[in-house]
Amino acid sequence: MRVIDPTDNLVEVRDLTKWFPVQQGLLAQVFGGKQRFVHAVDGVSFEIRRGEVFGLAGESGSGKTTIGRVVVGLTPPTSGTVTFDGIDLSTLGSAGLRSLRKSMQVIFQDPMASLNPRMSLGRSIGYGLEIHNPEMDAEARRAAVVEMLERVGLAPANYFYNKFPHQTSGGQRQRAAIARALITRPELVLADEPIAMADVSVRALLLDLMNELKRDLSLTYLFITHDLATAKYICDRVGVMYLGMMAEVADLRELYTHPLHPYSQALLAAVPVPDPHQRRTQPMPEGEIPNPINPPSGCRFHPRCPIAGSICRTEVPTYRALRPDHWVACHYAERYLPSGD
Ligand code: SF4
Repeated sequence: MRVIDPTDNLVEVRDLTKWFPVQQGLLAQVFGGKQRFVHAVDGVSFEIRRGEVFGLAGESGSGKTTIGRVVVGLTPPTSGTVTFDGIDLSTLGSAGLRSLRKSMQVIFQDPMASLNPRMSLGRSIGYGLEIHNPEMDAEARRAAVVEMLERVGLAPANYFYNKFPHQTSGGQRQRAAIARALITRPELVLADEPIAMADVSVRALLLDLMNELKRDLSLTYLFITHDLATAKYICDRVGVMYLGMMAEVADLRELYTHPLHPYSQALLAAVPVPDPHQRRTQPMPEGEIPNPINPPSGCRFHPRCPIAGSICRTEVPTYRALRPDHWVACHYAERYLPSGD
């Protein structure tokens, strides 16, 4: 098992903000209404260590997919920086980003987003090699694809090579999408809810496969998920996002045993437990996630927080380390420190 060096950051995200302009109606355009923005991500910082699975968790609309897209250079940030292996992505032009993309690949939730329905699986998987390894001849490319098909469990590989996506099951398609992402031997893989569309019966198998590939191919994952049960299965560290802001980041075991943010506590309480008699400590907060065009003042979680005080409505909580390698943004997080800390 690879030992993760906490000082060896493959990715560093600093004060990242991403806003999207809201489409204005005709009247606003004619009369010069104020441009409004969706605050998808606001001032987020974290690191991804080489060789780890860093999970981003939170409800839909929390900004985790936007962060993933910015980290792999698919979307530019509004402000802030992303550094990959020491290279600031903002310093790269489109050619530089294109060549770096070989080292940063994506597994999407829907495998059809990365597999061309009119191409055989073999051709779709080999396409990345055509782009990034143009020196490879057709025979070497086919051999690399066949080897990758076998690695992801699509055997006999020659049989699956010629199949089209519609001739395979959902689980097989996601295996092919994983093969397509890994064929260029990336260092970082953004896995955006990679098992969410898979049949329940194959989800654990896909996660086991991703773990095995990570070990064998020395990969680092940025793993995006809406549920902490999945994060528990695969992640080393987890960042909990709420409405575009990072609520808490900690090692997985630390987060499960000592969650310091009320939102993390609520998410953890919502994870199904095998024992029906075991009581949950705190219910999921009521209410919808607020509108990201006009997020709440102070702590964005305050309208749903069971312990919010007056300071929470006016002051944004500072993001700080309250335990070793455990960061949280909550005015009252000290209340949840274990006794003795
Ligand atoms: Fe709740 Fe206040 Fe902490 Fe936000 S800062 S999570 S509102 S207690």
